[in-house]
Amino acid sequence: MDRTEAVLEGARRIRHFLPQLLEAETATGMDQELARLLAQARQGEKVDNAILLVVARERSTRAWMQAFLELEDPARGLKGGEALPGHPSPVNADRFVCPEDDYVWCRHSVGEPVPLCPTHGVALVRAGQC
Ligand SMILES: [Zn+2]
Repeated sequence: MDRTEAVLEGARRIRHFLPQLLEAETATGMDQELARLLAQARQGEKVDNAILLVVARERSTRAWMQAFLELEDPARGLKGGEALPGHPSPVNADRFVCPEDDYVWCRHSVGEPVPLCPTHGVALVRAGQC
């Protein structure tokens, strides 16, 4: 995955963890900003730098995204290193994505109920592995 796509994927995935990473009000605001930027990305706009600026505002989300991008960096070879919320390694998980491409959730065990996209309120569809 190239750097731009990795940033977009990180934004789709971090949304699920914002309530764990941030105060409720901050999490809600950042979630809405990321949803808006991901919708713009779907329209073909280049938003990866804007996404990085948004997540960099808070220490916890900045660290999450940095760790995610390091894990996704092909130069680092096999995924490994420190686990972060939603991205434990090395276990592969089923990847579920919003049809509008703005939310990704990774299912680590078959029994976990699949959430709805918080922006669109629609069921996520299975798409590959996390
Ligand atoms: Zn959605």
